Amino acid sequence: MKQNSWLQCSSLCTERYNLTDTIYSCPRCDSLMGVNHDFDQLKKTSGQSWRKIFDSRYMKTEWPYGSGVWGKKEWVYPDLSDENIVSLYEGGTNLFWAERLGNLIGLDDFWVKNCGNSHTGSFKDLGMTVLVSAVKEKINLGSNISAVICASTGDTSASLSAYCAAAGIPSVVILPRNKISEAQLIQPISNGAITLAVDTDFDGCMDIVNKLSKDVNFYLANSVNPLRIEGQKTLSVELVQQFDWEVPDWVIVPGGNLGNISAIGLGFKMLFDLGLINNLPRLVCAQASNANPLYLSYKSGYKEVQSVSAKETAASAIQIGNPVSIYRAINILQQFGGVVEQATEDELANASGLADQTGLFTCPQTGVALAVLMKLVKSGVIKSSDRTIVISTANGLKFTNFKLDYHRNKLPEVTESKFASSPIELPGDYQSVVKAIAQRV
Ligand SMILES: *Cc1c(COP(=O)(O)O)cnc(C)c1O
Ligand SMILES: [Zn+2]
Repeated sequence: MKQNSWLQCSSLCTERYNLTDTIYSCPRCDSLMGVNHDFDQLKKTSGQSWRKIFDSRYMKTEWPYGSGVWGKKEWVYPDLSDENIVSLYEGGTNLFWAERLGNLIGLDDFWVKNCGNSHTGSFKDLGMTVLVSAVKEKINLGSNISAVICASTGDTSASLSAYCAAAGIPSVVILPRNKISEAQLIQPISNGAITLAVDTDFDGCMDIVNKLSKDVNFYLANSVNPLRIEGQKTLSVELVQQFDWEVPDWVIVPGGNLGNISAIGLGFKMLFDLGLINNLPRLVCAQASNANPLYLSYKSGYKEVQSVSAKETAASAIQIGNPVSIYRAINILQQFGGVVEQATEDELANASGLADQTGLFTCPQTGVALAVLMKLVKSGVIKSSDRTIVISTANGLKFTNFKLDYHRNKLPEVTESKFASSPIELPGDYQSVVKAIAQRV
């Protein structure tokens, strides 16, 4: 059968493998694998027709196309049989016109893509639906898989366990003990994943999972697996679609393992190559100063690429010192006039606090992206008239401890919580309430 997409080395080797093969790095040269598509086939449909097809499916109920990911199935995993799709209707997240925040920071056309308004509360669902669907297909083709496994800073495990639970496939998640939020920890537990809280950091968990994945019966779900990138790629398509196929000037995303920035770039490239758009946005990857290997590499003109020992950051989902997709990300950033900038704990916390005052409810990773945005506006890199999008990667409700500590002025390395607020506690009588309000309005 002619294949419409296949696994192939992301470097120069030309061997093709099935998307259901268990291969995470090139057997010849050890580079990361990527998913390649038959562009000759895809180009038989014009850019204009693709737009029409995608628009006709977007957020409709016809299964599986109402999903933001599976509405773009031909670009994601065309040969997958529909009966193996494990979808929880991911994508279709709202684009928030952050008018007030934009005014406060000097932008006329500023938007936040709320990817955290999703089944498990983060953008990770976009990739996980593809990966778990591939596993289901693999199992139905006769593969023996005892469990799907991942290391996680919280959101990957939440997503993996939900999709596996929905499909009835066992999952094992390995988390750094005491380094993820309670909300993130309770998700895999609730979904019945085998949840291992290990006394190490994310990079330590990743080492363990990499060793486990040498056993072919443990299928690896970390973003080294290019199937996840294929789903996350649809974020760019959806974003442009939400602007009636207009391309923004800037897209800013917080980066940890650097799969998402890579996926977003690949999505825009595909839109461009298939004629849906005529220009590319510039991409910005935002890192926490406490976990900034990509930033350091950027500063060296990408001459040096070194892992760092990631320090504690409130942006725990990006507390990663040795990102698996760093070369993938550098490659993408070089094609998109990419910028990498960092934010301190004080900057990310106050950026998040300010954004919340304008009606958002931001996770700390989104705080990093917002703080970086403010720096780039201040330095004139981003102009006030530029259409700018921040990718909000998770729902703020997953990070209530971060919020509480912020408002109690208790976050480490934050000198002052500039937008701190607290409930006003009152005796149980009407007059006290009236007085309390009168003092403040
Ligand atoms: C995973 C995650 C990130 C980082 O994405 P990468 O692909 O690892 O760079 C950022 N924010 C949140 C909330 C995440 O869960
Ligand atoms: Zn190779």
